[in-house]
Amino acid sequence: MEQFTVRTNQRMEMVDITDQVNSLLSKSGAKEGLCIVYIPHTTCGVTVNEGADPAVARDILEHLARLVPKTGPYHHREGNADSHILTTLVGSSQAFVVQGGKVRLGTWQRIFLCEFDGPRTRTVWVKLIGA
Ligand code: ZN
Repeated sequence: MEQFTVRTNQRMEMVDITDQVNSLLSKSGAKEGLCIVYIPHTTCGVTVNEGADPAVARDILEHLARLVPKTGPYHHREGNADSHILTTLVGSSQAFVVQGGKVRLGTWQRIFLCEFDGPRTRTVWVKLIGA
């Protein structure tokens, strides 16, 4: 398994990590297979969505913030219950088909690390299965 780190700059932020994932695949020499991208944190997730227009990521984050407000009532005393809930909604992993040494994505798709309790340094695990 390979990994890389991402430094986030805001409390809630979507960071395009597609190039880092492809760079790891490229270093491994793998051409075909399955690639699992896994985020080993409880307040940070991973998703796939449009990377061409930054307004899309902004809309997603603003809508998620309205869906799960920062202020509860919540039981978790750390002050980041919303971050944990958002992470569960978004999910901690995504699977990709690797083709020609890269993750196969639709024309407008990019892989985003979803920070919900930044700024922090986050680790991304990448496991390649196959050739
Ligand atoms: Zn917490």
